[in-house]
Amino acid sequence: MRNIYIINKTYFSGLNKMHKNKIHIRFYEELNDFIPKVNKKKRFLHQFIDRTSVKDLIESLGVPHTEVDLILVNSKSVDFNYIINDGDDISVYPVFESLDISDAQHLRPKPLRKPKFVADVQLGRLTKYLRMIGFDVLYKNNFNDDEIVWISLNDKRAILTKDRGILKRNDVTHGYWLRSTKVKEQAIEVLKRFDLKNQIKEFSRCMECNQLLQNVSKEKIINELPTKVAYLHNEFYRCPSCKKLFWKGTHYHNMLSFIQSVKNFEF
Ligand SMILES: [Zn+2]
Repeated sequence: MRNIYIINKTYFSGLNKMHKNKIHIRFYEELNDFIPKVNKKKRFLHQFIDRTSVKDLIESLGVPHTEVDLILVNSKSVDFNYIINDGDDISVYPVFESLDISDAQHLRPKPLRKPKFVADVQLGRLTKYLRMIGFDVLYKNNFNDDEIVWISLNDKRAILTKDRGILKRNDVTHGYWLRSTKVKEQAIEVLKRFDLKNQIKEFSRCMECNQLLQNVSKEKIINELPTKVAYLHNEFYRCPSCKKLFWKGTHYHNMLSFIQSVKNFEF
């Protein structure tokens, strides 16, 4: 009995001596979407034992690095490799247009010049909506995480995902975690995050194949059209891949109201 007591005593005194780093950290704006309620929108105390980079610390608290544009430690900007010191005071910002941080070190890679996306398997409906308003989105309902990351890196596509884990992978540079589960809200999130409102081009891309549609004259396809459609419409598009014909009829009014609501949305 006595021996066991001594071992336990030594063990506990060892734990007590283990140095804990204490830091304060605050996440700003939409980064709070990843933070438990108790710590949202405020500076909070965080304690840890191991030596850690600021990137690993931020991700251990739930925020993927792709969401972060700026980190200030004790009021100075640092990069993701910064090693945390005891007592550090850390502020973490997403893309934040109005903040005057011209001297600061921005962490997000430059925006991809041509917005292109690869979507995870949960985002089939969003994919169709984004294609409908002209955006290039690769999607397959059986893509796995490795394929998505590979496509993102090789084809310079931003990852759209409902799984924040994929955005925490070190090799991922561009990505966005969808907050909403509603497709129209998701479309607005993407337009807002990637600043795409002025790049909407409705009816320019096939919703099924992601191919750009081609104008086709009525004369060439008149034999393929139902009589009523031929009578009512003069403007037609064809997908070069699936050969499907599109005209501003069937679903046009539903789509138009969605497109209008997106365009009218205050960004
Ligand atoms: Zn098609």
